[in-house]
Amino acid sequence: MSHYSATNIKISKLSIFSGYQVLFEVKGHSYQMLVGGGGFNFPMNIIHYFKEDGKCPVCDKYTLTYPMGQQPCSGLLRDKMMLFDLFQRKFQSK
Ligand SMILES: [Zn+2]
Repeated sequence: MSHYSATNIKISKLSIFSGYQVLFEVKGHSYQMLVGGGGFNFPMNIIHYFKEDGKCPVCDKYTLTYPMGQQPCSGLLRDKMMLFDLFQRKFQSK
């Protein structure tokens, strides 16, 4: 995760399954990670959560506004465990 950083991290509990969603931003674009387990246990998918159409600065893919463009971000998925560690620390510090 040397070439970007995740900012504006917001963690909320989901009612649709046992887990959490983490909304965060990278270079002004929004993304969502789903985390499974009632204790913030394991990372699941990371998708684009864009408010406007545009190119993803991480994976370079042209992405439509959420929910149309809610495909996984291959670039962020490569750093999934690093991002999860960061979010987990934030979750535990609440
Ligand atoms: Zn992407």
